This record gives sequence, C-alpha cells and structure tokens, in this order.
Amino acid sequence: MTDLLSTPAAGPASVRGGGLRGVGFLLGSLASAASAALLFRHLGVDDTGKYVAIVSLVTHAPRPPAFYKTRLAGLPLSHITVEVAACEGADA
Ligand SMILES: [Zn+2]
Repeated sequence: MTDLLSTPAAGPASVRGGGLRGVGFLLGSLASAASAALLFRHLGVDDTGKYVAIVSLVTHAPRPPAFYKTRLAGLPLSHITVEVAACEGADA
C-alpha cells in the first residue's frame, strides 16, 4: 500500500480534509450557540453574569453540604449544589 502523502493526491486530500474540519467547526459552533439559547430560554436563568457550581466532594471527614455551601457563599454564584461522600479507602 502506497503512502498517500507521497502521491500527488496528497494536496487535494489535505484541502478536502481541511475544508471538512472547517465545516465541522462551524456546525459545532452553531450548535453550541443554539444550545446556549435553548438553555437560557427553557431552563431558566436566575441572573446573567453569574455562575453555578456543582461540587461533588469525597473526603475522609465529611460534613453536611450546608457547611461547604456557606464557604462558597461569597462567590458570585447564583446556584450551588454540593454532594458529599465519605471516602471508604484506607488512605489518609
Ligand atoms: Zn480516601
């Protein structure tokens, strides 16, 4: 089997591949913009310019989620979800 890169077909194949990548990037960007609009419209927005945090924490000394939420209270977060799980491992 001959290597495509060592044949004259390498140039057109490279252009075709680059074009496909460009089209794929454009379609992905459009899909991202459309999905962001759908999320804003249908999931509801508390406020723009703020962020949400979903924290999943595994620790050897778990505390109630409220403990961690109060630690994050000063940050510009409009919604905080904290899940705490105890580590069952022997490591410390
Ligand atoms: Zn552990």
